[in-house]
Amino acid sequence: MTLPSFFGGFKVTLRQVLEPRVTHQYPREKRPKPPRIHGRHVLNRYEDGMEKCIGCELCAAVCPADCIYVRGKDNPRDEPVSPGERYGYVYEINYLRCIHCDMCVEACPTEAITESKMFEFSFTNRADAIYTRSELLVDDEDGMPQQLPWEDWRDGEDEHTSGWMRATAPSGSAAYEGEVQWSGELGYGVRAPEGGQSDKRDDKATGNISIRTVERAKIPRKAGGKVR
Ligand code: SF4
Ligand code: SF4
Repeated sequence: MTLPSFFGGFKVTLRQVLEPRVTHQYPREKRPKPPRIHGRHVLNRYEDGMEKCIGCELCAAVCPADCIYVRGKDNPRDEPVSPGERYGYVYEINYLRCIHCDMCVEACPTEAITESKMFEFSFTNRADAIYTRSELLVDDEDGMPQQLPWEDWRDGEDEHTSGWMRATAPSGSAAYEGEVQWSGELGYGVRAPEGGQSDKRDDKATGNISIRTVERAKIPRKAGGKVR
């Protein structure tokens, strides 16, 4: 090995010393997560607080891990729980089986079941791993996911969880760009359209901001460092 090539190797090392640090002290620090990451599920509500789940059991039928259990029940005439004939009277997800494939989310006709960005939760017995309807339902005031004592929620993981996450796959057709394809939801109203590659895109409203952009804003620069 020649002397120039020996010291040439150090050039790479020294250049990296000036780059922003990318190591995070997980789990004390969490990195921002992609907007469509599949975390713990939520059951959503309409803007008037009614539950979106109509107890149709399609999510349970499509689940490849057989981990959803739903029972529908007729809505009480005086005090309906959902706008449909029925509502999800029993709703359970067994997280010892769930593989977070999101097929339940895609199958749901009412955007009732979606996923948050939070996947840091654990259990010490099997019964605790089965989330019930009362735990999965979003709060009836602000529409935010409930933060249960054994879950590790951080800023932003409870936002942008519902509605738009599901019905936003227009098969690549530009005809759907900028079109709202989902219903309103409690606490958020009707979310802005996800505009694909058009200039109607509203990334802030949908939370569809690239991780690179978020990281660029958060990672501290060292003197002379460049963010690529
Ligand atoms: S994410 Fe997949 S495995 Fe989990 S409950 Fe939904 S369909 Fe089943
Ligand atoms: S979550 Fe959706 S698919 Fe599942 S029972 Fe409720 S309405 Fe039907």
